[in-house]
Amino acid sequence: TNKIIAIDGYSSCGKSTLAKALAKELHFVYIDSGAMYRAVTLYFIRNGIPITDTEKVTQALAVIHIDFHNENGRTVILLNGEDVSEEIRQMYVSDYVSEVSAVKAVRCAMVAQQQQLGQRRNIVMDGRDIGTTVFPDADLKIFMTADPKVRAERRYLELKNKGENITLEEVFENLAHRDYIDTTREESPLVRAEDAIVLDNTDLNEEEQLQFVIDRL
Ligand code: C5P
Repeated sequence: TNKIIAIDGYSSCGKSTLAKALAKELHFVYIDSGAMYRAVTLYFIRNGIPITDTEKVTQALAVIHIDFHNENGRTVILLNGEDVSEEIRQMYVSDYVSEVSAVKAVRCAMVAQQQQLGQRRNIVMDGRDIGTTVFPDADLKIFMTADPKVRAERRYLELKNKGENITLEEVFENLAHRDYIDTTREESPLVRAEDAIVLDNTDLNEEEQLQFVIDRL
């Protein structure tokens, strides 16, 4: 049968970096569940869908198609056929994505698609509820944490390098805001699965983190 590795944790803990490295090492498919919530958020912003309007949200979800697709070794995310990989990382999406992700209908739709993506192939998926809700029977569950200041600094440098005009304080606030909503929402809040292994990477480099997981496979 196929194998599933679930990586959950707070915002900007390095989940995707580790998940990508693992997928490469093990020849698994990497799936970024956060990118799916970001794509839905982008669609809602562009089309002025109010998250409080259940009917509009349901109608929108029925016409949103999200696909992942490989382009010269780089994974791109397609929103109804359009490559939105860059746009979904912008701050105006980050500022709203947790509100959209707290909507029950949105989570139902995304979880169903994520479960389908994990059928009949080996995957590494990162997110907030992968080990608790999407794949409660995952073969390995990792719960990542790191010092909030270290997380903000890492993300700040990443966005700066991409040319985003932003301050460290803004990044810190955004992470705190998302963590707050993610951990307090009603629908599958961010919480460590009982059988998840905690990985605090405040003082670990990428190689050490990869080894930590490989040792537990
Ligand atoms: O992983 P990333 O930080 O890109 O995710 C963006 C946002 O999407 C998170 O802050 C969270 O609100 C939401 N999310 C979620 N469940 C997941 C993945 C992401 O609610 N499985």
